[in-house]
Amino acid sequence: MSDTANNPNRKSWLPVSPDSDFPIQNIPFGVFLTRDDVITIGTRIGDTAIDLGALHQLGYFDGIPLTDDIFLQDTLNDFISDGKKTWRLVRNRIAEIFDANNETLKNHEEHCKIVLFSLDEIEMQLPVQIGDYTDFYSSKEHATNVGTMFRDPDNALLPNWLHIPVGYHGRSSSIVPSGIPIRRPKGQTMPADAKEPVFGPSKLVDFELEMAFITTDANHLGEPIPVEEAEDYIFGMVLFNDWSARDIQKWEYVPLGPFLAKNFASSISPWIVTLDALQPFKVEGPKQEPEPLPYLHFKGKKSYDINLEVAITPENGEPVTVTKSNFKYMYWNMSQQLAHHTINGCNVISGDMMGSGTISGPTPDSYGSMLELTWKGEKPIKMKDGSERKFINDGDTVTMRGYCKNDKVRIGFGEVSNKLLPPFNPKKNKK
Ligand code: MN
Repeated sequence: MSDTANNPNRKSWLPVSPDSDFPIQNIPFGVFLTRDDVITIGTRIGDTAIDLGALHQLGYFDGIPLTDDIFLQDTLNDFISDGKKTWRLVRNRIAEIFDANNETLKNHEEHCKIVLFSLDEIEMQLPVQIGDYTDFYSSKEHATNVGTMFRDPDNALLPNWLHIPVGYHGRSSSIVPSGIPIRRPKGQTMPADAKEPVFGPSKLVDFELEMAFITTDANHLGEPIPVEEAEDYIFGMVLFNDWSARDIQKWEYVPLGPFLAKNFASSISPWIVTLDALQPFKVEGPKQEPEPLPYLHFKGKKSYDINLEVAITPENGEPVTVTKSNFKYMYWNMSQQLAHHTINGCNVISGDMMGSGTISGPTPDSYGSMLELTWKGEKPIKMKDGSERKFINDGDTVTMRGYCKNDKVRIGFGEVSNKLLPPFNPKKNKK
């Protein structure tokens, strides 16, 4: 089925500024609370949020096989379970309804009042109930930088890295949407000059610039997903900040990998941009050498050209952009990650989230974490107020943005922006 929603020449009757992340060619999916405190599934064109539950009740999706309550839910999981064919039918229909040449809804004032919201009337929620969350480690530059700093510059990549899309199972309960403040975690660390571990607030809270993809029900237990089919099971993508406590991580991660250094919080942008909307931005990935094993072989373009950036805003201060990277730098692509994840028969379900791993580019101004940008704190970054950052301070807000752009259309993700709060204090932070 053709993806008419991607027609780059289409214009909407809703206002869209030229630099908007959300032209009519995007049509992302999210979940929001409306001004009447009703939770609904929606989309967004320009700065207008659209209540898909209300549109469906008013008959605008007639002819598409959807259950009556598919959009009247507090997560997208069931809609994602409906599969790629249905996602496309719905995106194509939304494009038609809001096409500048279609006056049906445009001229129906009553319906518009029910269906359309300005952004300040809604509150974005987590878009899916995240079943399982897996985080990969798929940027060669990031893995090389971390290996150089913590182990051995001559053997920065561990022997398996060029053969396996390395990953670990994370925790989904602490994934929050943009806007929710994050608390500085406390934990065990082993200071450089100490003989015994100490307990206290992490001194090295960091961001990890990542993207995550969200899957549909893909396979039965025991049945792998072939690499060439993997994209059929990817619903879409979000920006992903995998908050990390480097000092806790350093002490705890041997031998089973990250634990409390990572699971205190991760945050995501609230609009899921569909993989369909990203098709015009497919590019070749880095050359893979040595050649991976056959189950990871793929044909054609499987990487995506998505510009990424991170800004730090001190409390009452001005933002400073600390890095600019790109999703296309990832060595292992999403298809390979999903094929690898399921090659042992592990089953993937609707609403599972797979983090890319920190996305570092080739140059020092494109690294995806403060650990790398400041090189363990040796090269602090200056804020506009003259203060310096080695890692993230209490009161700082970390904002990640991402967008794709060609000469016809810009498809963006909006932002994931969260403030770091001081550590929990049982006296002050009573319930
Ligand atoms: Mn991570």
